[in-house]
Amino acid sequence: MAAPNIETIVSLSKRRGFVFPASDIYGGLGSSWDYGSLGAELANNIKQSWWRWLVHERDDIEGLDSSIIQNRLVWKYSGHETTFSDPLVDCRNCKARLRQDKLELKRSESGITIGESKPEYVCPNCGSSDFTEPRDFNLMFRTTVGAASSDEDESALAYLRPETAQGIFINFKNVLDSSRRKLPFGIAQIGKAFRNEITPGNFIFRTREFEQMEMEYFCRPEDAPRIHQEFIDEFQKWFYSLGISAANLKLYEQTAEELAHYAARTVDILYRFFPERDDEKRQFDELMGIANRTDFDLKTHSKKPEDSEGRRLNPDSQEDLSYFDEATKQRFYPYVIEPAVGVNRTLLAILMDAYTEKTNEKGETRVILKLKSELAPVKVAVLPLAKNKPEIVAMAKDLKRQLLPAMRTVYDDTGGIGKLYARQDEIGTPFCVTVDHESLEDNRVTVRDRDTWEQERIAIADLKEYLMRKLYV
Ligand code: ATP
Repeated sequence: MAAPNIETIVSLSKRRGFVFPASDIYGGLGSSWDYGSLGAELANNIKQSWWRWLVHERDDIEGLDSSIIQNRLVWKYSGHETTFSDPLVDCRNCKARLRQDKLELKRSESGITIGESKPEYVCPNCGSSDFTEPRDFNLMFRTTVGAASSDEDESALAYLRPETAQGIFINFKNVLDSSRRKLPFGIAQIGKAFRNEITPGNFIFRTREFEQMEMEYFCRPEDAPRIHQEFIDEFQKWFYSLGISAANLKLYEQTAEELAHYAARTVDILYRFFPERDDEKRQFDELMGIANRTDFDLKTHSKKPEDSEGRRLNPDSQEDLSYFDEATKQRFYPYVIEPAVGVNRTLLAILMDAYTEKTNEKGETRVILKLKSELAPVKVAVLPLAKNKPEIVAMAKDLKRQLLPAMRTVYDDTGGIGKLYARQDEIGTPFCVTVDHESLEDNRVTVRDRDTWEQERIAIADLKEYLMRKLYV
């Protein structure tokens, strides 16, 4: 089972403190969201999983944390100043501003697309097909740098990065020289990115400020197709390891028209973010993209690009980012394979997939978030069965203190035990530990499993080891 729609996750998130609307007390700010205690914890766990898997468990990837604001020339030579735009149209009827490439095509009753030579679209707000001509809308947020700058001063113009990737390319030589790496190797980075999206929405699916986990893997041109395919396979497995079911993931091969100008091949991993839609194809949308970016990036940022067609001569760069292969004595620009994934979309997919409802013996429906232990914001809740009995409360609080250094543990005595269990199930806490009257006699506690609701009596002396084994093995 998974959540029936994003709305279910929106209300759970607000109720339990995963995600709140940003600037809420001032009426909000379109499609901006703040992450509460549980959301921040879950996001951190996702990032840690990604980082550990790529940077720690493999031995061919280095980490990086580059600046959000870079020299404007980075975005000139990356092509973002001229090409990082979406086609903007206005609906002449309801005045909505919309991204043309995300509009539904107009269909006749027989289902055939209307408009033979020029496609016609439908406004999702009012159903009209009367749009202005599309114009390119650049998605980069502009800002100014320095105390004396004014908004008109072009020399002070800078951008908030729209992707983390460029920070990696411009540091290629720094990392290469300092780490003494040889090809193939990767550089990984997690950080915020900003895009002035024309139509943000669907909760945290598309926002103007979001977080990316990007890795650029540098390799010999002839190895790029194989390595590309390997990362496509590996990333699907990573999503499975986070608990996302294969039935809700799908691969999408970008067509020649859709490919970015620098890409040789791009495959998107889609997730079923919109299960409520009738058309199965429209149920899926992008979770991540995995691109073969060729040698475009290193070449374009290089002082002397050795392009036989003489393209993109860069007079501003101070470095040549080519690679010298000691073995073959050849110099060339490495190809780049880029798996790029959003933290926020991953978090949404994980919440949707983990969402389950279960009916108890009283016929009440309970929400259970079946999160993988590794991701769960809280690993263990210690609950006293009688909060008016000081010895029980003291024992429970002491247990919490003992467990805290090894696993995130909370104490809760603000309701009856049924309610306390339900509260923990709803936020995905894998285990509840209950201290009762007998515990005072036999030094044993009840451990309850979130998914099966089964209970086991465990000696306090063995509790930590028991939980560690269950949580992490
Ligand atoms: P889309 O087609 O949905 O606009 P994109 O193809 O432009 O996305 P990429 O540039 O490939 O996205 O970015 C890599 C990843 O970053 C995406 O797969 C997604 O997970 C995340 N991402 C991109 N834009 C946003 C956004 N506005 N809000 C949240 N996450 C985003």
